[in-house]
Amino acid sequence: PRRRHLTVEEYVEGVRNGDRAILARAITLIESNAPAHMVQAQEVLRQLLPSTGGSLRVGITGVPGVGKSTFIEALGTMLCEQGHRVAVLAIDPSSSISRGSILGDKTRMERLARHPNAYIRPSPSGGSLGGVARKTRETLLVCEAAGFDVVLVETVGVGQSETAVRGMVDFFLLLMLAGAGDELQGIKKGVIELADALVITKADGDNRARALAAQAEYRHALRYLSPATPGWKPPVRTCSALTGDGITAVWQEIERFRTEMTASGVFAARRREQARDWLYHLIDEQLRTLFFAHPAVRERLPVIEQAVVEGSLPVVSAVQELIAALSER
Ligand code: GDP
Repeated sequence: PRRRHLTVEEYVEGVRNGDRAILARAITLIESNAPAHMVQAQEVLRQLLPSTGGSLRVGITGVPGVGKSTFIEALGTMLCEQGHRVAVLAIDPSSSISRGSILGDKTRMERLARHPNAYIRPSPSGGSLGGVARKTRETLLVCEAAGFDVVLVETVGVGQSETAVRGMVDFFLLLMLAGAGDELQGIKKGVIELADALVITKADGDNRARALAAQAEYRHALRYLSPATPGWKPPVRTCSALTGDGITAVWQEIERFRTEMTASGVFAARRREQARDWLYHLIDEQLRTLFFAHPAVRERLPVIEQAVVEGSLPVVSAVQELIAALSER
């Protein structure tokens, strides 16, 4: 049987009351690409906005196998047991290709998924990274309106998805393996420079000594990099999600960050900056879409492109001609 459609008011009420089923449906609405759903989703969001902003937003990244889901399971469960309400979201840049997402999968975080204070949502699938990131950003807001006070946003990627997550979180955590070497891990200096903390995972058993050595190395290396957040020196920690060692300490760093950056005004300034950046980013994106969908552009672009390729039309003139075509009826 088909489910009855919910009204905007029912979505808003349900989310604000923390109703899980309605929260899930609100997120599905946000993830939908159907124009009618998008209109409704925007109205829901608009009404929820006053109830958003109340969570600590933490991004978590690292190469596949570094231990992200095990870490999130350990950290998330600890937080839930302390009375926090934890939402776990994910941005999986490969989900548009493989269709199945490799991140945020419930089966990988069984204990956390069963906890009444936790909500785990897999990566939205399909579409560009930009589309996936937009959906995750809006989902984060909906989770805040539903009362989650910690939102963990997980990603794996090759630079772009990390940047997208950095743009929506307060604190960005980079998980690293000991002894694998930066190159092997595909870690670019640029990604390290996005991080507010580095955590060497799997610091247990035989691996502990190597983890400590890696910690010393990264501490040294970080001295030559510019910090992601002005006035914050990114700490380097080790942890074991298996034994639980170091998990509390990582969370204490995140709380210290919030305290210090709130006091300095950097915390609030970043959120304003993120909202502004997002605005201009979406304007860019929408303008692109409008431009390429415009009938006059669609009609002329192939000819103009050909002329540019053949060298008979200067590129600047080509662009001007297309822009001028936009105002034709
Ligand atoms: P992800 O791909 O980054 O999400 O990594 P997973 O969390 O799936 O972990 C990859 C593998 O590392 C799994 O086999 C885990 O059991 C193992 N692992 C994760 N955390 C730890 C840890 O703290 N200690 C040890 N020894 N193994 C771990």
